[in-house]
Amino acid sequence: MFNKMLANLLPYMPKKLIWLFSKRYIAGEGIDQGLEVSKKLNEKNIEVTIDLLGEFITNLEQAEENKNQYLEIIERFTAEGIQGNFSLKPTMFGLLIDQEVCYQHIREIIAKAAEKNNFIRIDMEDSQCVDIEIELFKKLKKEFSGHVGLVIQAYLRRTLEDLTDFSNFPSNGYPLNFRLCKGIYVEPKQIAFKDYEEVRKHYLEDLEFMFQNKMYAGIATHDKFLVEEALKLIEKYQVPQTMYEFQMLYGVTPELRSSIVKRGHKMRVYVPFGKQWFNYSTRRLKENPKMASHIIKALFFR
Ligand code: FAD
Repeated sequence: MFNKMLANLLPYMPKKLIWLFSKRYIAGEGIDQGLEVSKKLNEKNIEVTIDLLGEFITNLEQAEENKNQYLEIIERFTAEGIQGNFSLKPTMFGLLIDQEVCYQHIREIIAKAAEKNNFIRIDMEDSQCVDIEIELFKKLKKEFSGHVGLVIQAYLRRTLEDLTDFSNFPSNGYPLNFRLCKGIYVEPKQIAFKDYEEVRKHYLEDLEFMFQNKMYAGIATHDKFLVEEALKLIEKYQVPQTMYEFQMLYGVTPELRSSIVKRGHKMRVYVPFGKQWFNYSTRRLKENPKMASHIIKALFFR
């Protein structure tokens, strides 16, 4: 209740106050800050995935601008020798306005990444986008095989069925590459599992299916229980190091993160940056009031 009230008040709070907690999770506004954070993570033997903030745009001019920024980001991060790849949200290129325009922009970005022998991960957004994003991925995967991956959300009731469909998808010698996360959007119970334990159970079922079907798994979670269970599955299926990695968000559970790295597993951190940090932070908080408790901790228990 209190969390919800706080979350609703957030967009009206001073930007500087919001920045106080956001800065833990966001590298900054510009490419230089993104580079700085990425270099520091690389020094700790951690790879990154770079994300330019922005989503659900309202006109196609923004899509063009976002594409140009991504092209510049790929140039800069590659030139600086950053160990990492890139993530993007299709609604930032007009997915819900004009699917063909969106496809062409993302195609151009992936072509640039492929030219640099790099990789683009398509983030998964709310449930209205899932079918379209899966189709977009399939089309791009056929053309760019090893240079594109997708996110799968364990909280969706449909996910195991989607993975089963994918197991028949021609991989052209490059495994399907999925990041498995719980899912961040607030969805109705007809669409998504709501119970915490149920989501965990489905996460592990999906992960096991991915290992059984030789899909590359980006194990994206800060849930210690899931990390330990994932390690058991890796052992059970003797999954080679080339077929999985752990992924976490910048600023979240750094102790768990370093314990995984110390145990010799590959780790990648999602590094968001950009001018849209304020809208991003407040929207996320309104969508998911549970996050408000993280803010209270960040504000008062630093
Ligand atoms: P939780 O049970 O939520 O968290 C476990 C513990 O981690 C918590 O108890 C808390 O201590 C800590 N924690 C978790 N989140 C935070 C936080 N923000 N601040 C402080 N502490 C925290 N979701 C999508 O829907 N689509 C995507 O494309 C997507 N991409 C992602 C990429 C990465 C690399 C990661 C790590 C997550 C991504 N997510 C995405 C978000 C994901 O779906 C979950 O909402 C989020 O990771 C929290 O779930 P959890 O597995 O960490 O478990």
